[in-house]
Amino acid sequence: MENFFDKILNLFFPKKCINCQQLGSYLCYDCFSLIEIMQKEYDLSEEIKYLDRLFFATVFKNQIVRKLIHGFKYPPFIKDLSDTLSDIMIIHLTFIGMKSQLSDFILVPIPISKKRMNYRGYNQAEELAKKLSLKLKLETRNILKKIKENSSQVDLDKEQRKNNVENVFSLMEDIKGKNILLIDDVFTTGATIDEAAKILKQNGANQVWAAVVARE
Ligand SMILES: [Zn+2]
Repeated sequence: MENFFDKILNLFFPKKCINCQQLGSYLCYDCFSLIEIMQKEYDLSEEIKYLDRLFFATVFKNQIVRKLIHGFKYPPFIKDLSDTLSDIMIIHLTFIGMKSQLSDFILVPIPISKKRMNYRGYNQAEELAKKLSLKLKLETRNILKKIKENSSQVDLDKEQRKNNVENVFSLMEDIKGKNILLIDDVFTTGATIDEAAKILKQNGANQVWAAVVARE
């Protein structure tokens, strides 16, 4: 639902479809229908050691998904895309019957580095978690803190990615016996998410699942 300020803002900066530029929203109905939303849960690869389950709503190779995530994380930094992207995540969770199973889960966004935070002005995973929180009526807590500035994962191979993220997180509170749903935008090799799952599991978390928009 659009509120008053959204309406005013829209008057001066009208929303356009990120793919076809049609006015009205960041993703028009026609372009939305070109996104394939996964109808089943996929098994995790053996390289993932700590994460129990992964839910990815769609795939990064879809051009429209790519544009949405790019516009969300890079200039023009459309923070509001968290609304569209969280909807896509919820449709997937509904398809696979997972929405009802999350009632005792805490949403935990994957933190980003200070450098990224200064660049973007927000943590994209936290923005997604906030929207999911409202829509799914689940609590979001920033339980993880990034304590090491690692280099970007982009140009690294699988093994390097694993080493690069080792011990980058610390815990902000006791999570013994808790069920955690990690939130992030993209799942690539899963090194970062599994490292987060590791510290949660080692400190007594019960189940650690993850929900992301897209798998690369
Ligand atoms: Zn469109």
